[in-house]
Amino acid sequence: MTRKSAIILILLGAPGAGKGTVAQYVKDKYDVFYFSTGNLLRNEVKEKSEIGRRVEDILGSGGLVGDDLVNEIVEKNLEKIAVDGSIVVLDGYPRTENQARVLDEMMSGKFRDAIHVIELVVDAEEVVARISQRRVCVKCGNTYGSKDNIKICSCGGELVRRKDDEEATVRNRLREYEKATLPLSQYYSDRIVKVDGSVTPEEVAQQVNACLCGFGIEKRR
Ligand SMILES: [Zn+2]
Repeated sequence: MTRKSAIILILLGAPGAGKGTVAQYVKDKYDVFYFSTGNLLRNEVKEKSEIGRRVEDILGSGGLVGDDLVNEIVEKNLEKIAVDGSIVVLDGYPRTENQARVLDEMMSGKFRDAIHVIELVVDAEEVVARISQRRVCVKCGNTYGSKDNIKICSCGGELVRRKDDEEATVRNRLREYEKATLPLSQYYSDRIVKVDGSVTPEEVAQQVNACLCGFGIEKRR
């Protein structure tokens, strides 16, 4: 059976919940268009599109790219890519309930029924423990967890702890995330599937596969 409509997959997860790992897994195993808002912004700038020039002006003057512009960029790209049979993964969007509403209303509500949400759920204490044990390679930026029992990166770079990963900072980021995402998670309550992120990466992958299968998404052949 072939699927006719597009699917838009939204990944939600607190910092440290393992969203990066799941994203990488989905990119590896499934034929998806993968969009992070950061990538979308960089692409527009690179293509020197009309939107790209506006983004460049804002960033050049040290400003932040606002919600409206991000919404516009997402709509422009989804319009092109979320067509029959395609699967689009959105990372880092929507970030707020307001953006979620805008997304639902884009293209006269065309995307609304295509949207499926996976939320990676982990206990706050577990996240704090995970992140505060994280080490980053100074040379290539690879990250390593507590289970990677190594002192030097495979590229030869030294592993250090990022300032962002200190406990107080992590707790702050978690609070920020909850404030913005809890309403988002409630907004999507009819389209959300929760995945337990506290188990092994293999078990997380199994749950993700089951979710995607339920959404009608098949693995790459
Ligand atoms: Zn490295």
